[in-house]
Amino acid sequence: MAAGELFAFREWDDATWAPRAECRGLSEIFFPPAAERPQAREKREAHARQVCHSCPVMFECRDFARRHREYGFWGGESEEERHAAGFRLIAPIGVRARQIS
Ligand code: SF4
Repeated sequence: MAAGELFAFREWDDATWAPRAECRGLSEIFFPPAAERPQAREKREAHARQVCHSCPVMFECRDFARRHREYGFWGGESEEERHAAGFRLIAPIGVRARQIS
């Protein structure tokens, strides 16, 4: 389920941007499947990044994901990139795989 699809199940009041999300129907590129290999992750995230960069709400989405410590690819940013930007996650996939703190 991509960012634009999650909000039907949540009641946060700061997600007015979600209906304009470009990622509706594209969940499989925004969240990893089980046991995804690094090369497959790079390819999937490159595709997600492309979608995000054409999305009219990229900055609102990125801010939301950072504040809520979301997992997956949001606002043109991977878990690893959010983590590196100071919005720490408990176990971001890229950081864990490469053992970066
Ligand atoms: S920036 Fe990316 S993840 Fe966020 S709503 Fe747009 S397409 Fe979806």
